[in-house]
Amino acid sequence: MNQFPAFFNFRDREILIIGGLEQAAAKARLAASAGAKLTFIWSAFDPALRREFASRAQFKHRLPEIADFNDAAAAFIACDERSATKFARIAKLQKTPVNVVDLPALCDFTTPSIIEREQITIAISTGGAAPVLARRLRATIERLVPARIGALAAFANRYRDTVKSIIPPNERRNFWERFFDGPVSAQILAGNDDGADEAMLAALNRSNKTDTGVVHIVGAGPGDPELLTRRAHRLLQDADVIVHDRLVSGEILSLARRDATRIFVGKKKADHAVPQSDIEKLLIDEARKGKTVIRLKGGDPFIFGRGGEEVDALRAANIPVFVTPGITAAIGCAAATSLPLTHRDFAQAVTFVTGHAKGDEDPDLDWAALAALKNTLVIYMGVSKAGAIAKRLIKNGRDANTPVAVVENGSRNNQVAVKGRLGNLEMLVSAASIQGPAILVIGDVAALADATEILTNVQREQREAA
Ligand code: SAH
Repeated sequence: MNQFPAFFNFRDREILIIGGLEQAAAKARLAASAGAKLTFIWSAFDPALRREFASRAQFKHRLPEIADFNDAAAAFIACDERSATKFARIAKLQKTPVNVVDLPALCDFTTPSIIEREQITIAISTGGAAPVLARRLRATIERLVPARIGALAAFANRYRDTVKSIIPPNERRNFWERFFDGPVSAQILAGNDDGADEAMLAALNRSNKTDTGVVHIVGAGPGDPELLTRRAHRLLQDADVIVHDRLVSGEILSLARRDATRIFVGKKKADHAVPQSDIEKLLIDEARKGKTVIRLKGGDPFIFGRGGEEVDALRAANIPVFVTPGITAAIGCAAATSLPLTHRDFAQAVTFVTGHAKGDEDPDLDWAALAALKNTLVIYMGVSKAGAIAKRLIKNGRDANTPVAVVENGSRNNQVAVKGRLGNLEMLVSAASIQGPAILVIGDVAALADATEILTNVQREQREAA
């Protein structure tokens, strides 16, 4: 450690700002946010700076003098290098710690990159070596720290005395560990303060028994880890147990805590690895052991994801359950191929449909209604029935010339996107050997997709002739 990290109390302390331009203002803002009493000293001030601090600072319109440093708790120097060197030397003689902008060698202290969440402050320093790196680190950490962490700290603070009076000293630490892992903290982070108070009282009442855990039903998006929500990312790092299926990419699973238990309950179509009722039982059992459980699902849990059934089962078992949305395949694939699902000129609505059906049957859909919509249809789980779907739509009046696109493994490294016409949908699927998870997009907007166009022989001849 080549610098000593410490947090200074600036409240109502006199802080000098030497300089009159934006860099001085930036330091002044920082000091002001910690409650400092500011005094600006310089020969000229930027009018915008004067306006900004008019009611919050004293201005001395001259160069600094030795006596100025006597009562100051610290000084920020933001002026030309020659003057800065001189004033830093004077400050040193008066034993006033200084920060000199852009001249780390003259600094008694440096200002770190900061993440603030109410009373929580996280400071990052690279010892002045690489401020850009510090900012990047800050962005990474910021993603992991929930926005409501401040509320969590305030809540814990509010109950500190109560916990002290109820929980014996040797159990207190465990109690707080469970508090930050369990339902109380999940309620606070989800913004439900009433629920949090209720859960806290319950936890205090049965503090000597093992607490029930929680289940988070989390959408993992279409596959690209960059498309995870910040909450999903954080929960992955917190979870004890992760129950996932085939659609969740390995890249996303690798973001989980290394020692988390991963349970695969994947199902390939027609090969139901684990029945839904067993999955629900597994979630309940793990939560009852006091674990933080994530049920991680491809896309969004409530779009053809059976998330609703899991919520019902957990509620019935009295397990606290929370849902985190994900980018559903239709939205992810559309973005990945620049295909606007609605468009002022071509489509005023979009419908998500499941093409799933048992065995040889056709999907059981209201074909007349679907064909009548001159809008965008996105069909999930429809690859194996692509031919039947096209035929039924055309029979019910949708033009065989309607553009279609098929996107397989959307947003992943192995994405495949092809486009053509509704009349040739089945040919399109087999020509591109679509096998992985894929959606079918039917409607005029499909023609806009960044996708390989696949033509039938007849179409090719017609194009060549024209
Ligand atoms: N809950 C998921 C859908 C589950 S149903 C969601 O919101 O996306 C499974 C179907 O989703 C697959 O058959 C396929 O049609 C679609 N799907 C999921 N991920 C996909 C991806 N990365 N690319 C294309 N289609 C995908």
